[in-house]
Amino acid sequence: MKAIVSLNSGSSSIKFALFTLDHEHVPTLSAGGKIERIGLSPCLAIRDAHGTVLHEEDWTDRADMTHADLLEWLFDWALSHLEGREVIAIGHRAVHGGTGFARPCRIDDTVLAALEKLCPLAPLHQPHNLAAIRAIARIAPDLTQVACFDTAFHHDRPAVATRFAIPRALHDQGIRRYGFHGLSYEYIARRLAELDPELAAGKVIAAHLGNGASLCAMADGKSVDTTMGFTALDGLVMGTRCGAIDPGVILHLETQLGMASEEVEHLLYKESGLLGVSGLSSDMRTLSASERPEAEEAVDLFAWRAAREAGGLTASMGGIDGIVFTAGIGENHAGVRSRICKRLEWLGIELDEAANTANAAVISAVGSRAKVMVIPTDEERMIALHTLSVLSGTAP
Ligand code: ADP
Repeated sequence: MKAIVSLNSGSSSIKFALFTLDHEHVPTLSAGGKIERIGLSPCLAIRDAHGTVLHEEDWTDRADMTHADLLEWLFDWALSHLEGREVIAIGHRAVHGGTGFARPCRIDDTVLAALEKLCPLAPLHQPHNLAAIRAIARIAPDLTQVACFDTAFHHDRPAVATRFAIPRALHDQGIRRYGFHGLSYEYIARRLAELDPELAAGKVIAAHLGNGASLCAMADGKSVDTTMGFTALDGLVMGTRCGAIDPGVILHLETQLGMASEEVEHLLYKESGLLGVSGLSSDMRTLSASERPEAEEAVDLFAWRAAREAGGLTASMGGIDGIVFTAGIGENHAGVRSRICKRLEWLGIELDEAANTANAAVISAVGSRAKVMVIPTDEERMIALHTLSVLSGTAP
């Protein structure tokens, strides 16, 4: 039997999934997992499709193990557990496809060089994606590798949604709004079309609320606007990222407080968001269980900003027929969904609180003007589907 591997290589983690293909090439998850704490003391858990742990590993005090070392380990583990399956390709999440990559593609030296040039646009993410591609090319030079872009789903948005109000020459150099979380949104668009085709054909806000968080306005399943912009720092309040901020703050930090740009970068990416406002944690569960007023303030700000941005995206679409919540907070945190939807009551949105508390698939009340749903995302499956489409020559 044939199989596809999805890899999502980030700064301190690598997520992976092995999909077995049936005779019609429909992928079924066989195993998946995550290596975390890379650069500190890496640890790994691999589970089967039912969540049963197949293997756990703890590399205590092995801060020296690189992404490449860990991928090599994973490759060896996979080879001895394939049980007759043949891996025909590896699909990678590539955060940035710039303006050039509007669809997934087979990776060769030319593509790799083009992706390398995009590293300055996503310095905290893209180099890790490319390191994984190179590591696999060394370990298995003949294996087909496919790049699947987080920016691609947003590629065809109306031009107005891509522009900052800065001189044209800078836009032409690539300083523009790209949008991210595209693999998640594309998966949600497809799944919604299966679950509720009528809603999928309408105006929907998808809310990917995890450690990273963004909203996407989708009309007829296509992105028309999104809250992330040039980088994954823009838009909503996130676990440790600030979201949209007056650029004057950054100028002030540098010119008046004398902070170096690396310090500002660290502040905005790693010390801000829920963590910065609460002074307690970046984790929504910890914050909502806390009695501290700062924790409450952080959760309230998260919901307020999400609702405010949802209002903006509704204007971008000229209306709203539904909201779909996804990712860690969106799929599991009834309290946050309720706070956001309460602030959107003026749009005719009303929750069925019992359904919301039960994390049901449909959580809006019967009379709600817009439908509200919860759909678990699956970026790894989207990567596998894209990889298959490239192999079969049917990439969109
Ligand atoms: P990442 O962007 O790292 O993939 P996730 O999508 O896993 O992040 O989301 C992490 C966030 O989801 C955390 O704030 C966490 O508190 C929240 N979360 C995860 N599971 C639950 C749950 N069962 N109930 C409430 N919140 C949850």
